[in-house]
Amino acid sequence: MEFFRPATLIDALALKSTHPTALCINGGTDVMVELNFDRKRPETLLDLSAISELSEWSDQGDSILLGAGVPYTRIYQELAKELPGLAMASRTVGSLQIRNKGGVGGNLGSASPAGDAHPPLLASGAAVNVASVNGTRAIDINEFFLGPKKNTMNPDEIITSVLIPKARGGQQYSKIGTRNAMVIAVCSFGIAIDAKNKSVGTGIGSAGPTPLRAHEAESYAATHLDWANGSAVTPEMMKEFGALVAAASRPIDDVRGTAAYRRHSLAVISGRCLKWAWTSTQDMRSK
Ligand SMILES: Cc1cc2nc3c(=O)[nH]c(=O)nc-3n(C[C@H](O)[C@H](O)[C@H](O)COP(=O)(O)OP(=O)(O)OC[C@H]3O[C@@H](n4cnc5c(N)ncnc54)[C@H](O)[C@@H]3O)c2cc1C
Repeated sequence: MEFFRPATLIDALALKSTHPTALCINGGTDVMVELNFDRKRPETLLDLSAISELSEWSDQGDSILLGAGVPYTRIYQELAKELPGLAMASRTVGSLQIRNKGGVGGNLGSASPAGDAHPPLLASGAAVNVASVNGTRAIDINEFFLGPKKNTMNPDEIITSVLIPKARGGQQYSKIGTRNAMVIAVCSFGIAIDAKNKSVGTGIGSAGPTPLRAHEAESYAATHLDWANGSAVTPEMMKEFGALVAAASRPIDDVRGTAAYRRHSLAVISGRCLKWAWTSTQDMRSK
């Protein structure tokens, strides 16, 4: 097996161009599992972890530009105010060791329907920046996932960063698992309320072939939230919102849960997330 560890993005892109089948590795928390279980045997590994610009984030005014290799621990330690939904999701990933190494670039690269970063990125309307020797492109997160473990990237491309709008209202993330830590989601849900545009974004995880949006639930919430006075989310609204989220999911029965359980739990957690995120929206307004 050939192993490259470039120190610059330019060198990495040149290597990916000449070795398009090279498997990128950043934190290695997915890749090493694949190698250890002999599920993948790439001829070439392209280690991106020495490229400093991939492990930095910057404030772009209304958005955060998050380097593909910024580990989850730094996301929740440094960006909890700007990106509360992603920070909450990051806290639920694996163990501290996994969160110290793994990051959003690797989560997107794996494109598992259960990836914890995906629902908050969908809810916030993020864009995935990819690069090759031929240039760069920004991929709308809604267009990024093609199927289980499939994304829209070309073989010569590398994810450089993700552009994520800063929170303009309450955000929440909730995940169902068989225990409180070290679990892949049975299902998960992220919500981002945009108090400025009076809109609501959602993301469903682990309940479809790809992470999904719940468009009808978003419209329902946007038209039923009391933007003028901020009155509380009612139990009826939680129930209707939850039912619309469950209806937008496309779960299957598998070892982690049945489709029916996933729909039921999604309805429950999404209703709660709506209520909590609306409460935080009012708290943000009063500050
Ligand atoms: C014990 C354990 C627990 C886990 N728990 C969770 C969990 O709770 N939630 C969760 O979502 N995930 C979990 N994971 C999976 C994993 O930690 C995450 O998917 C993590 O985000 C992967 O990031 P990484 O940098 O380690 O990726 P890597 O393993 O380095 O790469 C993953 C994939 O992305 C590609 N890739 C990496 N970086 C780039 C890039 N810059 N450009 C293009 N492609 C790239 C690689 O080629 C590979 O296909 C767990 C893994 C383990 C081993």
